[in-house]
Amino acid sequence: MNFDVIIVGAGAAGLFCAIEAGKRGRKVLVLEHNAQVGRKILISGGGRCNFTNRDIKPENFISQNSHFCKSALARYTPQDFIELVKKHKISYYEKKLGQLFCRESSRQIVEMLLEECRKAKVEIRTNCSVKEIKKSNGLLSNKTANSRQNAGVPLFEVETNQDVFNSVSLVIATGGLSFAKIGATDFGYKIARQFGLKTIETRPALVPMVFAKGAEDYKQLAGVSCDAAVSCGKAVFRENILFTHRGLSGPAILQISNYWRKDTPVSVNLLPTENAFGLLENNRENRQKLDDFLGQFLPNRFSEIFTRRNFANKPLNQLGKKEIEQTAQVLNDWQVFFGETEGYDKAEATLGGISTNELSSQTMEVKRVSGLYFVGEVVDVTGWLGGYNFQWAWASGFAAGQVV
Ligand SMILES: Cc1cc2nc3c(=O)[nH]c(=O)nc-3n(C[C@H](O)[C@H](O)[C@H](O)COP(=O)(O)OP(=O)(O)OC[C@H]3O[C@@H](n4cnc5c(N)ncnc54)[C@H](O)[C@@H]3O)c2cc1C
Repeated sequence: MNFDVIIVGAGAAGLFCAIEAGKRGRKVLVLEHNAQVGRKILISGGGRCNFTNRDIKPENFISQNSHFCKSALARYTPQDFIELVKKHKISYYEKKLGQLFCRESSRQIVEMLLEECRKAKVEIRTNCSVKEIKKSNGLLSNKTANSRQNAGVPLFEVETNQDVFNSVSLVIATGGLSFAKIGATDFGYKIARQFGLKTIETRPALVPMVFAKGAEDYKQLAGVSCDAAVSCGKAVFRENILFTHRGLSGPAILQISNYWRKDTPVSVNLLPTENAFGLLENNRENRQKLDDFLGQFLPNRFSEIFTRRNFANKPLNQLGKKEIEQTAQVLNDWQVFFGETEGYDKAEATLGGISTNELSSQTMEVKRVSGLYFVGEVVDVTGWLGGYNFQWAWASGFAAGQVV
């Protein structure tokens, strides 16, 4: 039961790391506690897996160290993954903003990864739960296929519900906390604690937001969406917002949720292509009521409720200068207070995780524990919505796969 590399977690990063290590002739074992590998890949992108983005920049990632992701992302690029997808004859398309999706099904990505694993002779054990991990300075037996079995090479002992396995390298690829119902656990963070590594506090990322008290009227708007520019601090996203039964969702809100902090309002520009003051000023002769007028730019139901909540619903030609100023201010900068997020059950990713200070950005190896690696979402690197998180999983898995 000796291996060169044991990888815990058969998700995007773990499988990719396994493929790369296997291609180098390493004897690789992947342990997955689910009955099936890559369950998150299967449900991703609404079943079509937004597997990468054509335009990946370090600025698309959030981390305490914004430079950390650069090395791995530069060494395994979106084009590299696109070539692999093409090699497997998976047809794909760009939905918007460089986001690449499978035309048919995310299952094709999982099948592609499994096919590459087979070619690289990677062994995968499913339904396999890790009970304990120990590290010693033992020797690997002669049966081990590769050459790192020098005296003093650290040896990991991984006790599972199936067997006890040993390896020279141990890769933790157990992902973040989102979607416990498909197997997400805090295993990676526990291992970090076991080895005394610093972790950055975790938070749900890319997650719908729940209104603070007092916004009950908007609940009637569940299902209504509109284009908006949403900002929090320096971050700005121009995409749709969507009303839900409890608050707001939609791509612009999911993106801004990564930057939101409790008690900080999010600014929503409801007329992102218009200077609302100029627009109202230019229509001072207009006899339409404000809600009807705004209905040309916003969904009717929203315009009605929004006007009732925020303004006097007068004909435009009866609005005074101050009222025009105040109305325009709210339309271009609606300050929305959220009480909380919808949490990990609805979040697409997890912010925070293993501190990048603990890891080599070249290899993902823990600086203080040789042979131990963390890859993928468990690390404190979180991408925007739009294929960035998978690209990080592929790239960080690739980086470790070259050296484990
Ligand atoms: C609904 C949804 C849709 C998404 N859509 C997209 C998208 O279209 N594009 C995009 O870029 N990103 C998307 N994401 C985010 C993306 O799926 C993740 O960032 C990515 O899968 C992270 O890869 P990973 O390998 O680090 O973790 P995961 O893919 O989560 O894999 C971790 C694996 O480890 C296993 N595991 C956990 N604990 C243990 C344990 N104790 N023992 C053994 N195994 C364990 C898990 O079962 C899992 O198989 C989406 C996420 C969700 C939740």
